Amino acid sequence: MTTFILFIGLFCLAEAQSFNSNQWSNPSMNRFYNPQNNQNNQNNQRGTNVSQLIVGSLMPIANGFDFVGSSSIITDNGQLFIVDTPNSGDTKNLNVMMQGLQSRGIQPSQINYLITTHGHPDHFGQGHLFTNAKNLMGGFEIAGSAFTTTPLRQDKDAYNLTPNIELWNTPGHTAQDVSLIAHNTVCCGTVAVVGDLILSDQDVLNSTLSMSFAQEPVIAKMNRNRVICASDYIVPGHGPMFRVTDQMRQIAQCQGRLSTDG
Ligand SMILES: [Zn+2]
Repeated sequence: MTTFILFIGLFCLAEAQSFNSNQWSNPSMNRFYNPQNNQNNQNNQRGTNVSQLIVGSLMPIANGFDFVGSSSIITDNGQLFIVDTPNSGDTKNLNVMMQGLQSRGIQPSQINYLITTHGHPDHFGQGHLFTNAKNLMGGFEIAGSAFTTTPLRQDKDAYNLTPNIELWNTPGHTAQDVSLIAHNTVCCGTVAVVGDLILSDQDVLNSTLSMSFAQEPVIAKMNRNRVICASDYIVPGHGPMFRVTDQMRQIAQCQGRLSTDG
């Protein structure tokens, strides 16, 4: 609770620094990717696909903020992954998530992996719906009340869950952030689903806001750059999926690997 209050407080502080809410919720930013267009790909489950069930947003409201975390569905080799779910009291976005699954012909019981990027309430709270999923958060697998360590808590910073899906330790926003990295996706090459390590495409161009409330800003910056340089597209914690541009790669000081049209 203390962490969350600090989180809210820091957002309020940052809001004074010319925060433009429209940048965080502009529907036109979805032009790169429309989950409905990819429905057939999702259903055949042969290729590797990433799409957002919930497009996260972040809006100032009276005395606070409205936080909606992104929730994503990923498929690889017939395995289904959910990354993040709405907070426990957010029935509106719970419905959005469930309708997104229904439109793809997916039952919650079919989900194989539930990944929580970090422990802020706008990114978890509905995981209990995925009754057959392996539940991964930080460096732990959680089953009932049992927490057992995964390679991320043992001796690795990354490991494969399926042939094209990796889980990376990417701390900085909190001490336990993880990111899902999907390689060889049908639409978009390598896609990183990063939670609040990156809030939106605008956050890549100007990180003042997110750095002001990152628990470990120096480590966050390092992991942001690592993810940006490794990816073609990014699903951020509070905005639509976006393409990594040459400008973003330059900001992240990537070595080589510029795109052809960035
Ligand atoms: Zn967060």
